[in-house]
Amino acid sequence: MVNIYYDARRESNAMKKLCLRFSFLLLVSLFWPVWTAPATPDKATAIEWVEEHAADLGELNHDIWSFAEIGLEETRSAAALQDVLRANGFTIESGVANMPTAFVASYGSGRPIIGILAEYDALPGLSQQAATERVARDEVKAGHGCGHSVFATASTGAAIAAKQFLAEGGSGTIRLYGTPAEETGIGKTFMLRDGLFDDVDVIFSWHANDKTQVSFAYTKALTSMKFRFHGLPAHSSTSPHQGRSALDAVELMNIGANYLREHVKPDTRIHYVITHGGDQPNVVPPEAEVWYYLRANKHYDVEDYFERLKKIAEGAALMTGTSWELQVDSDNHEVLPNRPLSELIYKNLEHIGPPKFTDEEKAFARAVQESGGMEHEVALSETLEPLTDEPGQGLASTDVGDVSWRVPVGRLTVATYAYGSPGHSWQIVACTGTSIGEKGLLVAAKAMAASAVDVFLDPSIAEAAREDFDRRRQAYPFVSLLPPDREAPKTIR
Ligand SMILES: [Zn+2]
Repeated sequence: MVNIYYDARRESNAMKKLCLRFSFLLLVSLFWPVWTAPATPDKATAIEWVEEHAADLGELNHDIWSFAEIGLEETRSAAALQDVLRANGFTIESGVANMPTAFVASYGSGRPIIGILAEYDALPGLSQQAATERVARDEVKAGHGCGHSVFATASTGAAIAAKQFLAEGGSGTIRLYGTPAEETGIGKTFMLRDGLFDDVDVIFSWHANDKTQVSFAYTKALTSMKFRFHGLPAHSSTSPHQGRSALDAVELMNIGANYLREHVKPDTRIHYVITHGGDQPNVVPPEAEVWYYLRANKHYDVEDYFERLKKIAEGAALMTGTSWELQVDSDNHEVLPNRPLSELIYKNLEHIGPPKFTDEEKAFARAVQESGGMEHEVALSETLEPLTDEPGQGLASTDVGDVSWRVPVGRLTVATYAYGSPGHSWQIVACTGTSIGEKGLLVAAKAMAASAVDVFLDPSIAEAAREDFDRRRQAYPFVSLLPPDREAPKTIR
């Protein structure tokens, strides 16, 4: 280009004008696809919306963080999210799948239909101030030890930001799924069973973390169940021979389960709590209950161990002369990763960049690490982790898993708390209640909104995601251990 212009200057005026025109046309033709491609301005619109509303989103996070409501009791949190969505033109269906705090908010019409997942349940026993040491709040008993206040806020922000594209003439539907009680794997499972995800093309989801990365990984499959034993009450000292102890059955069942550990694959996790063990020692406990989580990398292994655990319960009942019953509360498959959606999110994360923290924020995180007994070079991660070629294997479980067997799901995490913090910890509650969590949630909101706009603009992304999904889903048949007549529970207990 420079050479053409330079040569033209040596010619006559007419020739000069002709060459200048030619140069201009060449320039225009070279850059025309960039100037006219709608992707950049539209994506920028969504990203700008998040930036312009950073303070509002920070406030919303603070509200949900403060409410700290446990699963199926997230009344104020769900209402706060719905208020914001309604004010931004979304139509809301609340109380879906027989759960008062579950909702679906929609904007737009037609395909593609893009869903974004929001979780907002806190964890019991994790009440914590936004402080650098372990100090409970007086007002609440629970805390967002899994970072679900930032989760819900970023997802809601992403849905509204993506909506800006539709409001400006784009076509498609954006949905925000308000999914309660994730910590006990309940919300999405029952919403899925009620067909609420059946027509969705693509789902985006994220999670609070100490790193910024695409979650191109499997999680563990998980089944949650309660075994109840029924015995006979009797005076523990004067007539124990007439009693049959349900607590004995629970204890013998747990011994059996602990012996089972040696004969399952090493990726298996079996954990339990005794939720009822009798009332006082001088009455042989007529009723007792134990709550089990059974996990493995593949759901087919969970199906196998589930049968073996039932035999152990039966054995415990036989040994103690009691009877037993089983209640399956939830059943989550492992998350199926999705390559095209992971690549899309990674591209957007590269563009947006991981959160950058101030010295003050780093000092806060450093103090949290120190009082939590952690030693790390990094206080807060400010880098984007590379996208791996092969999917990883996570140790946690989520009800996003079942959704990922019905719809292609793309996921990410963003640094929102002190590096190295344990999961479900006071350190996470503390950091996500400050500007650290708020900064991270903005990156998550932008990445999901930008990815949604990309799918609206280029339907081939959704097609590629569907092909990848179809291939992974064929690995083995989807079997739910949840009885078909099981209704969504009223409480997480
Ligand atoms: Zn979580």
